[in-house]
This record gives sequence, C-alpha cells and structure tokens, in this order.
Amino acid sequence: MKFKDQVVLITGGGRGIGAATASRFASEGARVVVSDMDLSPAEEVAKPLHGLAIACDVTDRGSVEAMVGRVVGELGRLDALICCAGIIRDNLLFKMTDEDWDSVIDTHLKGTFLCARAAQKPMVGRKYGKMVFLSSTSALGNRGQTNYSTAKAGLQGMARTLAIELGPFNINVNTVAPGFIETRMTRATAERMGVDFEAFKVGAASQIPLGRIGQPDDVAAVIAFLCSEDASFISGQTIYVRGGP
Ligand code: NDP
Repeated sequence: MKFKDQVVLITGGGRGIGAATASRFASEGARVVVSDMDLSPAEEVAKPLHGLAIACDVTDRGSVEAMVGRVVGELGRLDALICCAGIIRDNLLFKMTDEDWDSVIDTHLKGTFLCARAAQKPMVGRKYGKMVFLSSTSALGNRGQTNYSTAKAGLQGMARTLAIELGPFNINVNTVAPGFIETRMTRATAERMGVDFEAFKVGAASQIPLGRIGQPDDVAAVIAFLCSEDASFISGQTIYVRGGP
C-alpha cells in the first residue's frame, strides 16, 4: 500500500494506459481521480476503484483549472499528476493538415502544460508532488508522425525544465516513453494502415528484442515506480518502456 491515502489524478484515465495506471495506483492504496474527455469511460474505470470521475478536456484551461480545483476541494490534496490524455492524427508531411498538427500539439503539449501548471500550485504549497508525462518512442522520430513525434519530444524537454523549476519544492517530474502498447490507439494505427490488428501485433513483436508487445500494465508499473519513494531521487528523466534499448 505504497500510496495509501495519496490522491492521484490521471488524465486520459478512461482507457488504455491511463485506465491501467488508475487500477495500479488504487491497488496500492491511492485515491484515484480518473479524468477523461467524456465522463462515461472515466466513470467506468473509477467506479470499481471507488475513485472520482471527472470530465475534462485537457486543451481547455478553464476545464483543467476546474478539475484541479475540484480534486483539492473534495479530496483535500494532490500528490501525483499523470498525463495520459492523447490522440494521434498520423499522416505523411505532404498530407498532414493544419488541423492534424494543431490538435495533436494542443492535446499533448498544451494539455500537459495546462495540467502541470494547475497541479503545481497545491503541490508547491505542500512541498510534495510527482508528475509523470507520457512521451513515446516516436520522440526519436517516426514516419507519418511529424506532429506526434514533435509533441512527444517536447514533453521530454518540458519534464526536464519542470524538474529544474519544481525540484526545490520537492516535486519530481519525469516522462515515460512507451513503445508498442496494445491499446485502442495502436488498434487505430493498424486500421488506418489497413492491416489486421493481430497481424500488426505479431509484426511489431518481431521487431522487439523481448519478443512481445507491451501491455498497459507494463507502463503503469513504471509510472507507479516513478511516483514511489523508491524513485524519490529521480527527476527530469525519460524511461523508455519498449522491450528493448
Ligand atoms: P487511448 O486512446 O487508449 O487513451 C487516451 C485517452 O485520452 C482516451 O480516453 C481519450 O479520449 C483521451 N483524450 C484524448 N484527447 C483528450 C483531451 N483533449 N482531454 C482529455 N482526454 C483526452 O491511448 P493510450 O492509452 O494508448 O495512450 C495513452 C498515452 O500514452 C497517450 O499520451 C499516448 O500518446 C501515449 N503512448 C501510447 C503508446 C501506445 O502504444 N499505445 C505508445 C507511446 C505513447 P477519447 O477516447 O474521447 O479520444
């Protein structure tokens, strides 16, 4: 029960990696706040975990500030912020629209910035906090993902900078960078490419040194570690969770 009584807020918590992260924290004693664009997936995850569900569009400042205000108002504190909300709008550069670019940059970069800025206030006040942002192996470059890889690389810089700014307030800021994780997002990629998802997973696994694709729980475990006391001297780092170097 490493996180007993701690309050952990997870954006994009209604599905995939965010949902697994909420379960992981709840299983270790945390009070989880599951936030997502729509209330119903957030409620589905939060209910069995006895958590709080909040609908929040992370690209909207008012919505983000209201969410953090409600968490602190109702639960009295905020120990950890996990930013999982994300979308993909893949296209080769010559076909990528302004909308593809703006929506991805807004969701990942502006969304994480707005959440971090709102969350630091109660954390700085208590001189305690953990933030984990979701980067990706795409930060290293990935065909068809100019928008997404730019955003995911940017999040690593954001975490390093916030680690410097917030370190004096005992706040650790890190990113995890998953490789291929089996979620709705990777299923959507297969669909867009016109590839059967099962065949897509087999193909991906063959490229991974550990010989398998990742599951949301693989990422949730690393996020939980980064928020635990075992990782209290780790900040501004990116941990790749991809079954290989
Ligand atoms: P999912 O699509 O399963 O979950 C993402 C969640 O974020 C969805 O519930 C989605 O809601 C929500 N969301 C999207 N936009 C917003 C918004 N503006 N405000 C609030 N919530 C929003 O994705 P994953 O679990 O796979 O991904 C989680 C994170 O991990 C993402 O940041 C992703 O980029 C990253 N990642 C994933 C990898 C993978 O292989 N799956 C690999 C590397 C990184 P809705 O359903 O309404 O769109």
